[in-house]
Amino acid sequence: MNKQDFPLFSKYPSLIYLDNAATTQKPAVMINALEEFYTSKNANVHRGIYELSELASAEYEQARNIVAKFINASAQNIVFTSGTTMGLNLLAKYLIEPTLKAGDLLVISILEHHSNILPWQEIAQNKGANLKYIELKDNELDYESLGDLLKTNKVKVISLTMMSNVTGLKSDLMRVKDLIRQYSPNTLLIADAAQYIAHEKLDVTNSGADIIVFSAHKLYGPMGLGVIWIEPKLAKKMAPLFKGGGMISKVEKFTATWAQSPERFEAGTPPVAAASAFISSIEYINSIGLDTIKAKEAELANMLYQGIKELNNYRLLVSDYNSSKYGPVIAFTHNSIHSHDLAQLLSYENIAMRSGHHCAQPLHDYLGVLSSVRASIGMYNTIEDIERTLEVLKNIRI
Ligand code: PLP
Repeated sequence: MNKQDFPLFSKYPSLIYLDNAATTQKPAVMINALEEFYTSKNANVHRGIYELSELASAEYEQARNIVAKFINASAQNIVFTSGTTMGLNLLAKYLIEPTLKAGDLLVISILEHHSNILPWQEIAQNKGANLKYIELKDNELDYESLGDLLKTNKVKVISLTMMSNVTGLKSDLMRVKDLIRQYSPNTLLIADAAQYIAHEKLDVTNSGADIIVFSAHKLYGPMGLGVIWIEPKLAKKMAPLFKGGGMISKVEKFTATWAQSPERFEAGTPPVAAASAFISSIEYINSIGLDTIKAKEAELANMLYQGIKELNNYRLLVSDYNSSKYGPVIAFTHNSIHSHDLAQLLSYENIAMRSGHHCAQPLHDYLGVLSSVRASIGMYNTIEDIERTLEVLKNIRI
């Protein structure tokens, strides 16, 4: 997890990149694999019986196998999409909306990224359903109030982030699953693992979720590739999301039957090159180990949090950071400098941090701030990165 493995840092040797929650930098092995695909494996999948098409198809299915193994799933339950946003929209529109009724409840949390808010807002409005937010209690999600909602027996779906992209707070999905089992067994649990996936081992067999979505680009992979994992029994009975080439069993003039999962959910030309390159990202991560990555990132996040806490003029959005409850994301504000100006000042010092609402406006409203600056740590960040960041933050004056 050396910066030398990531070519962008050779181009910008003094860059301190702390915007990993937005997207991660790419290891050379992934970039090379992308080039390799287009120079020596490029063909469309599943449609040709000539050698190159077979090679591309095998590569694409190998990507599915590797992703499946990474989250302890089986390959037929891995569906490739273009990203988390696409996945959540598809699920809301094509899985949930068709059977949603007036008065049903859709439950999300106050931590959510707009991608896990807007699709639910829309389908709730379309069908006269109600969107409910779980808020925070004692610095975690208020699971008790979630239990109360479930007791109404009206909750169609709960869709929760596994790790906030602003505060890093993790959700206890097994606890949510227990509540579902207890009060409302038909409620579906969708997990947005966009952030979580890069920092901790995700095992679908003990995640609690029925469906999990994430994006490759936040996991040191290419942009334009996402994953939906669908629980096997659910995948069997789920209708296709899109219609088109590659997802059918037979098409007649006025009717059609569908292929099995995962082809059923992947109409059209899939992101084959990206999937092929993603194999190398995952192999790279596996060669280091997510436990090692987690431990290193936790140490850096803690160091940054404690360091900012000691500085005058800054307010941290989280009051009791600890790495068992939070991922390596530290958001803060300055008492008299707007977040955008602060990010600009950091940028002058070659420190890349995001400012604004980070696509989580309801969370910022809830926390009583308009915007924040966010440091999100990745596997290649170093102690020197954090020391330098703290030094710059300390010396910032208006
Ligand atoms: N969910 C969370 C928690 C995120 O942090 C993000 C992106 O930052 C998304 C969803 C959307 O991901 P993408 O832009 O890759 O679709």
